[in-house]
Amino acid sequence: MGKTIAIFNQKGGVGKTTTNVNLSACIAKLNRKILVIDIDPQGNTTSGFGIDKKSLDNSIYDILIEGEDIENVILETEIENLHLVPSNVELAGAEIELTNREQREIILKNAIDKIKDKYDYIFVDCPPSLGLLTINSLVAVDSVIIPIQCEYYALEGVSQLMSTIKLVKKGLNENLEVEGVVLSMFDGRTNLSIQVVDEVKKYFKGKVYTTIIPRNVRLAEAPSYGLSIIDYDPKSKGAEAYMELAEEFLDYIEDVI
Ligand code: ADP
Ligand code: MG
Repeated sequence: MGKTIAIFNQKGGVGKTTTNVNLSACIAKLNRKILVIDIDPQGNTTSGFGIDKKSLDNSIYDILIEGEDIENVILETEIENLHLVPSNVELAGAEIELTNREQREIILKNAIDKIKDKYDYIFVDCPPSLGLLTINSLVAVDSVIIPIQCEYYALEGVSQLMSTIKLVKKGLNENLEVEGVVLSMFDGRTNLSIQVVDEVKKYFKGKVYTTIIPRNVRLAEAPSYGLSIIDYDPKSKGAEAYMELAEEFLDYIEDVI
C-alpha cells in the first residue's frame, strides 16, 4: 500500500514544486514506484516533467469535477517508475465549482484510494492557497512535507499552516502527520540563511530534514527543459541535495516500517 504525501505550504515561491518534481524523480531513480499528482492550476509540476499542459486529454480537473476515473488520467513520464496526474489552468475554476458539491473534501481521497496499492509513494503538489484543492489534498494524504524558504519572514504563515493541519486532523483526517520540513534555497554565505535554519529547527523540533537544499541556479533552469535536476545536471549541487533528501526520506520511512 502506497504512502501518500502532500507538499504543502500556502505561501507561493517557497520551493513546493521544485521539491515535488526533484524529490519524486530521485526516489523513482532509487527504484520505488511513484505517482505524482499535480493539483495546482499553474501546472508547473506537469510542465516540469516535460508534459505539455496545453494539450492534455484529461487532467486532475476531470477527476475532481467530471468524475473521471483516475486510471484514465494517469500518464507515463520520461522517468522510469514515475507516473503523473497532470493539471492545467482549467483547474482554476474548480474551487468554485466544488463549493456546492456534497462530500467535496474527499473527492481526491476517493480517487487515490483506487490506485494506492499500485505505487510505493504518491506525492501531491498543493497550490499556494488554503482553499478546497488544498483541503482535498490534506484529506487524501498520510502526511505532509513542508518546504520552507531560507529567507526573511520564513516562519510567516507557518502558524496558519499548522492550524490548518490541526483543523483537518480534527474533522476530516485524524491520522494526518507532518512527515518532515525541508529547508530550501539556502545560501551559506549569508547569516540570514543560517539564522533561518536555527529558527525553523527550534519551531519544528525533530521534524526538520538534515539535508538542506541550497540555492542552485541549475534547479531553476531544469523546468524550462522539462527535466528533473537528476536528468538535467546530475552533478549539480541541486541534484546532489535532492538525491540526499530522497535517501534520508526513504531511510526514515522504511526503517520505521
Ligand atoms: P512553489 O511551488 O512553492 O511556488 P517553486 O518550487 O515553483 O515554489 O519555486 C519558486 C521559484 O524558485 C521557481 O522559479 C524555482 O525555479 C525557484 N527555485 C526553487 N528552489 C530553488 C533552489 N533551491 N535554487 C534556486 N532556485 C530555486
Ligand atoms: Mg508550485
